Amino acid sequence: MMSGYISDCLGENFSCIQPKPILPQKFNWDVFMATLIPTEGCNFQCSYCHKNHPAASMTRDTLDQIEEYITAQAPRHKQVVLAWLGGEPILCKDTVLEVSEMIQNLQKQHGFQYTAKMTTNGYLLDEKLFRQFCQAGITSYQITLDGWNHDKTRPHVSGKGTLRTIIDNLVALSKLPPEEYSFHITLRRNLLAGDEDYSWYDYLYRLFGQDKRFDVLVCAVGDWGGKGSHDLSPLHQDTQEVLVAKHIAYLDKIGMLRYNQMYCVSRPNRLVFWPDGKIGKCTAALNRPQPQLE
Ligand code: SF4
Repeated sequence: MMSGYISDCLGENFSCIQPKPILPQKFNWDVFMATLIPTEGCNFQCSYCHKNHPAASMTRDTLDQIEEYITAQAPRHKQVVLAWLGGEPILCKDTVLEVSEMIQNLQKQHGFQYTAKMTTNGYLLDEKLFRQFCQAGITSYQITLDGWNHDKTRPHVSGKGTLRTIIDNLVALSKLPPEEYSFHITLRRNLLAGDEDYSWYDYLYRLFGQDKRFDVLVCAVGDWGGKGSHDLSPLHQDTQEVLVAKHIAYLDKIGMLRYNQMYCVSRPNRLVFWPDGKIGKCTAALNRPQPQLE
């Protein structure tokens, strides 16, 4: 059993409750989907994170094998979707850029559609790097901001607060011209019991409410047992939906866009590549049998 609470950086929509999730009617087998976790290391120490953070990243040998596999598989499909997760994937930005460039070269040769997304804590996502990532085809991001509690629940490993730096980064990104930079940033909010201060959303609305490239995803922090922080108040199953619904209602009232899609976390045609070279079917199914590279 995993220890602690949740990691927004591992399960993309873990514990997220949204009304009427949009699930695909049937799987599109013509999509090659790969999730790459270049490192489980992280520059944050979030109080609800269930992960250990070994600093090791993918070795050259592992990366070569992954690239070889993608080179063989991607051209067989009409669409390629890549997701970058961690730990904090930006700690391995060179790996991200290398693999992205490789796929873009394949795309030029074979003509498939290519999209890429990243779940990051946003701390190192300054404008310069963001421009590089956009050029590399990574145009969709999920970044967690825990409201006014953020510096308490999501501190840097040094113990410092992280909110100001992330907000400064996001404000810089919002100033990029929309006609040139078409991207999508979902600001995720993790809710604990008693989180009923909605003024955080007024703040977000003032900063990003007029920019359709930003929206908000509300998620409940559930108790997974284990160690975790003793200071936190996770939501109980029966109160999660009520509180999340209140937050969603407030977002709708002020006109802040909210993220309204749910991914099926595990899809038959999706593989997850871990930093140690292991391959899985989904980020949550850690103990299921591993598929083999063909
Ligand atoms: S930012 Fe790092 S510490 Fe925080 S939830 Fe994500 S992986 Fe865990």
